[in-house]
Amino acid sequence: MVICYYNGKFAPMPECTLPMTDLAIQRGVGTFETIRIYNGVPFAMAQHLERLAGSTEGAGIKAGAIIAKLPEIIREGLARPEIKGYDGVVKPYITGGDVNDKGTFPTPRFFVVFDENIHKPTNEERKNGIALEPNHVARPYPLIKSTNYLFGFIPLSKASQTNFESLYITPEGEITEAMSSNFFLCKEGKLITAPVGRVLKGVTRDIVITLARENGFTVEERCPREEELAQADEAFITGTVKEVLPVVRVGSQKIGAGRPGPAVQRLQHIFLQNMPRWMDK
Ligand SMILES: *Cc1c(COP(=O)(O)O)cnc(C)c1O
Repeated sequence: MVICYYNGKFAPMPECTLPMTDLAIQRGVGTFETIRIYNGVPFAMAQHLERLAGSTEGAGIKAGAIIAKLPEIIREGLARPEIKGYDGVVKPYITGGDVNDKGTFPTPRFFVVFDENIHKPTNEERKNGIALEPNHVARPYPLIKSTNYLFGFIPLSKASQTNFESLYITPEGEITEAMSSNFFLCKEGKLITAPVGRVLKGVTRDIVITLARENGFTVEERCPREEELAQADEAFITGTVKEVLPVVRVGSQKIGAGRPGPAVQRLQHIFLQNMPRWMDK
């Protein structure tokens, strides 16, 4: 079941349509969030809504009034009988609307999708890991969670093997983040991940860094170099739906032993154990 809040009411998804005049369609002007819902309860919702405010502000979309209404709309949606207690996501989208005033968007639209048909990582992916396809471009304006993923998808279709996601690597060889997740390398007992600003402020990234430090890991916030992939012991990605997923190959480069190692397995376990700390009461 997928329901959507749009134009002041909740309706089944197929009944909701955006006008073709919207700049989200015509120019890719839009920001969004994916908030995980476990048994009807949001995970780290405040962090997501704060980031959405930052994304819309960064994109020039005037959405203060919309952002202020979202917590109430989300709570109302989660209480609806069609989806009560579901396992899935809530995705608020804020679009550019129809007016472009010199690069600012004064009349945005918004809608909120309540979706239980999500692609959760399979046991196979959690246990055996996934592969990434290198994408040698920088993602522009990294602090904005934009609806435009085109430049992350392109390398996937050109790859010789099937890969889970693409991995942004700048032309200078700095690894930043994956198409829709943050990237960590484990080397010589340390976790290395790009600093916020070079990448999106991943909600899962921040939680995993907090938990890693609490549990005795050393975390270095710098962009790993592409050459370091060959010397890495382990790698993993973090994201709202993916949680923590081992990475065992990047392009043709095997990571470590080519299977998930002890650090990522421990972090997967620690993440699951500590999830209640970020569940909304
Ligand atoms: C959504 C996303 C992430 C992951 O953020 P979470 O808050 O952990 O889901 C990382 N990078 C990009 C580019 C993203 O779009």
